[in-house]
Amino acid sequence: MEIGDGTLAVGAGRPPAEKYAPTLPGPAFTAHYHLPGEPVGPYTYGRDANPTWTLLESAIGELEGGAEVSVFSSGMAAIAAVLLSQVRAGDAVVLPSDCYQTTRALKERLESYGAEVRMGPTARDAQLDLLDGARLIWLETPSNPNLDVCDIARIAEAAHAGGTLVAVDNTLATPLGQRPLDLGADFSVASDTKAMTGHGDLLLGHVATRDPELAESVRWWRKTVGAIPGPMEAWLAHRSLATLQLRLDRQSANALALAEALRARPEVSGLRHPALPDDPSHDLASRQMKRFGCIVSFTLPDEAFAERFLGALTLVTQATSFGGVHSSAERRGRWGGDAVEPGFVRFSVGVEDAADLVADVLRALDAARA
Ligand SMILES: *Cc1c(COP(=O)(O)O)cnc(C)c1O
Repeated sequence: MEIGDGTLAVGAGRPPAEKYAPTLPGPAFTAHYHLPGEPVGPYTYGRDANPTWTLLESAIGELEGGAEVSVFSSGMAAIAAVLLSQVRAGDAVVLPSDCYQTTRALKERLESYGAEVRMGPTARDAQLDLLDGARLIWLETPSNPNLDVCDIARIAEAAHAGGTLVAVDNTLATPLGQRPLDLGADFSVASDTKAMTGHGDLLLGHVATRDPELAESVRWWRKTVGAIPGPMEAWLAHRSLATLQLRLDRQSANALALAEALRARPEVSGLRHPALPDDPSHDLASRQMKRFGCIVSFTLPDEAFAERFLGALTLVTQATSFGGVHSSAERRGRWGGDAVEPGFVRFSVGVEDAADLVADVLRALDAARA
């Protein structure tokens, strides 16, 4: 029987019932294990495997619709694991030109190892034009921070016809928002620092795949570079997954409420959220996504206006990152590196009451005008 997402999230990765054992064992703080004789078996050394990761990895594997998962110390550790374990000198790799900027920063590293890097935008599946003979294509959909969407199934079909591997950065959506592996991708990768764990209290990443050889090569990469999460982070992440469906449903509903309130405001331009019926991403997002995520992006008249707006918010933290239970926002242009206007705001909607949040935002817009 197909179970609902709430049931799936709350039970994912819970060990079988054993009398007097905790229902979710606490973090296993250990560097080594009792290991007499031949050094074989599931737990030999703390950089190779840890029982707390094992439970979290099986939980994420269930959420991904069945997959082998490796957890990493951060989203970037997971992204680098896929790119650097699969791409070799002489290979071509296709990256989005508008994806998370630290992923784009790996271009130089890949080139220094002798790979060719081709870049094209997410919108209108433009990366398809760059596929010819590539070893791997990297997708990020919806893209961060501009919220363009590409057709994972269409690109995966074209890529596989030419022997190209497909990896999707699924950070914004999470596996309850969209399942890249079901859409044909070879790798579903995420920064679990964001919506997946949702409390802004840890960094974590994961790589999921249904191909045992690819899974093994990613695990081997982790072992050799040592990009491993601590057991405390892994345990906190697992605990947080229980509320994933609750958080995402609330955050998605709040994000739509905020987007609808913003569209009536004359000082707001370039409003994007995939759930808005007239958003350029809406039709495709409706076909491949189940939940549209927590980000609303928009542009205010200029940098000073945007800074006054952010400073006037009372319920919203000024912070980078997104996906948390507390709403946060930032002027994305302050970092440089993204193709955005100086007044561009990336707003991450939390689980506050929608009416309170909308009222705070509209009041802050009024304050910024004055
Ligand atoms: C934050 C983010 C990352 C990097 O994740 P870290 O956990 O910060 O290393 C990668 N991709 C996207 C889309 C992100 O938002």
